[in-house]
Amino acid sequence: MTTRHLISLLIFLNVVFSGFGQEVTEQKQQTKEHYSFDPDSLLLHVKILSSDAFEGRRTGTKGAQKARDYIIKRFKLYSVQPLSNSYEQPFSFKRGGRNFAGTNILGYFEGSIHPKDYIVISAHYDHEGIKNENIYNGADDNASGIGALLAFADYLQKNTPQYSIILAAFDAEELGLEGAKYFISNAIVPLERIKLNINMDMISRNAKNQLYVAGTVYNDYLKSVISNFLTPTKPQLLMGHDGKDGLQNWTHTGDHSPFHLKNIPFLYFGVEDHKDYHKPTDDFENINPEFYKSAVQTILNVFSHMDKLNL
Ligand SMILES: [Zn+2]
Repeated sequence: MTTRHLISLLIFLNVVFSGFGQEVTEQKQQTKEHYSFDPDSLLLHVKILSSDAFEGRRTGTKGAQKARDYIIKRFKLYSVQPLSNSYEQPFSFKRGGRNFAGTNILGYFEGSIHPKDYIVISAHYDHEGIKNENIYNGADDNASGIGALLAFADYLQKNTPQYSIILAAFDAEELGLEGAKYFISNAIVPLERIKLNINMDMISRNAKNQLYVAGTVYNDYLKSVISNFLTPTKPQLLMGHDGKDGLQNWTHTGDHSPFHLKNIPFLYFGVEDHKDYHKPTDDFENINPEFYKSAVQTILNVFSHMDKLNL
């Protein structure tokens, strides 16, 4: 190769690579604009939280403490602020003659347009713990909801919400919705300022590819909003299980119940019970990653639509 050829080659390569660089930058900008959440992190959160090391996350155990440490560390990484002076809201309660100590984790993003009005996005992090030497890992119930809650944190740090958002990881759901009940009866923000609760509990698998949203039966407005999201794609989003359709009524079976009892509108996202429900086999290997990622995207889409409305 002559020097002249070498120089032309270098110029050519320079043009090619600078062009390539520009394209990469443009692609990055585009990705940022459409950013919702990182699907790999979503799955990793569930895998870690439902691993044996967390011992089934039973309220008051080391496993539950480990789950809290994990969630708070991620809240900090995603720039979630604590709702009050700490992320942790401790509480105690009695059940079956025993005393329990639970701890909710409450994070916060300030809204750009309605800073004094709140949407509470919630999921419980506790599960059944260890029984007869079997670890109940609760991958679907409800590491999946916590994974989604962290995906919301990821989304909200990059997309400022119009309403102020409370991210609530509730404890002691499995022992009688105790964390959510405490949150409502010891409210840190005025209850009349909570415009909506979006609760996520078991959202990572369904043999029929169906994800239910309950709560619209109590609110025609919510029903008309959700109607726009009822597509036959995977997962198929269906309204129901809230008392008027002959299906099992989920109104009071989850952490949205204490909100509903104070007349706060709620949307509960979840799947019908499966063969591993409340069994030691509710493991990460048995969730459906594609279903789960689409379910989280659907819930995020519903949220970002509702965040722009006058609630
Ligand atoms: Zn659950």
